[in-house]
Amino acid sequence: MTSAPRRQVRVRIAPSPTGFFHLGTARTALFNWLFARQNDGVFVLRIEDTDPTRSEKKYEKDIFQCLQWLGLSWDEGPDWEDREGKKNGAKGEYGPYRQSERTAIYKKYLERILSEKKAYYCYCEKEELKAEEQSLLAQGLPPRYSGHCRQYEDKASEGRSPQVIRFKTPEIKVEFKDMIRGTVTFDAALFGDMVIAKNLESPLYNFAVVVDDHEMNITHVIRGEDHIANTPKQILMQRAFGFEEPLYAHLPLILGPDRAKLSKRYVETSLADYEERGFLSEATVNFLALLGWHPQDNQEIFTREDLIKKFDVKRVQKGGAIFNEEKLDWVNAEHIKALNEKEITEHLLRFFAGKSFGKSFLKRDLLKKIVHIEKGRLKNFADFFELAGFFFDLPEYDSQLLLWDKETRVSTERILQEVHNHLETMEHGEVNRESLEAKFQDLILKEGKGRVLWPLRVAVSGRAASPDPFDIIGVLGIEESTDRVRIALKKLKA
Ligand code: GLU
Repeated sequence: MTSAPRRQVRVRIAPSPTGFFHLGTARTALFNWLFARQNDGVFVLRIEDTDPTRSEKKYEKDIFQCLQWLGLSWDEGPDWEDREGKKNGAKGEYGPYRQSERTAIYKKYLERILSEKKAYYCYCEKEELKAEEQSLLAQGLPPRYSGHCRQYEDKASEGRSPQVIRFKTPEIKVEFKDMIRGTVTFDAALFGDMVIAKNLESPLYNFAVVVDDHEMNITHVIRGEDHIANTPKQILMQRAFGFEEPLYAHLPLILGPDRAKLSKRYVETSLADYEERGFLSEATVNFLALLGWHPQDNQEIFTREDLIKKFDVKRVQKGGAIFNEEKLDWVNAEHIKALNEKEITEHLLRFFAGKSFGKSFLKRDLLKKIVHIEKGRLKNFADFFELAGFFFDLPEYDSQLLLWDKETRVSTERILQEVHNHLETMEHGEVNRESLEAKFQDLILKEGKGRVLWPLRVAVSGRAASPDPFDIIGVLGIEESTDRVRIALKKLKA
């Protein structure tokens, strides 16, 4: 027996450019992209800009930039077929699809569904609908349209102008199998006849989605749980048209650490903000993947490639996914740990480019040396200035900080003076930990490690916590380090 050829997996994300590309959209994008990549499928980007009053170009741009930063490239667009010989061009080079450019397609399907008498023009005006709704509510009934205008079909209603187009919703139970939730059932009798378009040129969300998912041959719809109530409506329309039904997977809501709805601060901020805050794109992808999914084993750190291999949409949980910022910090630190010094340097150069305090950082050679000694402490690129700013500018500090343990100002001054003399007699060329250790060996033996190295470390860094003083001097050079020790001596004398 031969089985029917398997359809190629085709998934989409359909963001509306009415707000920034936030966490939820990013996770939906990632899960779709992973599903496409692991099935040799196609990942489609469709901009749902049917609402001209709320859609803005700046939000569309944000969608592109965030997808690009996350490395989630889409595979085709309306110009896919038109570009001679470029069908195999780079991903992300085509499209996206925009609903605002597809009015003629929706119109064709609206005309069809009207002519098949599965939809009709509704002439009821807002006030009449409001009155009807209030009367139902007063009787304790769910508000839904009575179907009054079904009677006119394609005949005009006594010279009144049509207000909207409605779908003749059958009063049946709609059942579908969700890849995450199993069988889901809705009672369509509660919907009433749904408005599917304002007129032939202005379809509404549920209708446009049904047409697009069909026209784009979408096989799997992976989207947020907030859309689950739309699914039976879309299925009813697919059935009315005789379209093949895609499979559905509704991703759990993202909740705050207190299990309450995620605060606006997270919901409304663009993913671009994560880049700005110093998170690595790969770490952000890793973190997003764990919002509602985890593998069978305990692995928590993944590259994109690992995720393509291991992600399994069927293992996505039903219950809310908890958003935990500390986890993001940890995941980011783990990804930074996995980078080599050259990679970190390049990331930092990119991160600080264009930032007002970035100029002094932009010297690659100097940065490389600093990265070498600060790498272990770096958890986020944005912390780098805080961590290593003292290399560029000696911070203000209290002279009290120079005193090791129970030392006095007098004893500290005496030792620092000796440190100063040692430094002054050193060659000004390249210094490193070995040459410094050799030079200070005697003094350390005589005075003790802490009494020498503590004030020296504070003098060259101005900070209570910093790397080893010899490593710092290796970066600063003898001249600058001696100057800084001189400043410390002045402070002690004051
Ligand atoms: N435009 C919808 C949104 O931004 C997505 C609809 C869908 O995935 O079907 O939430």
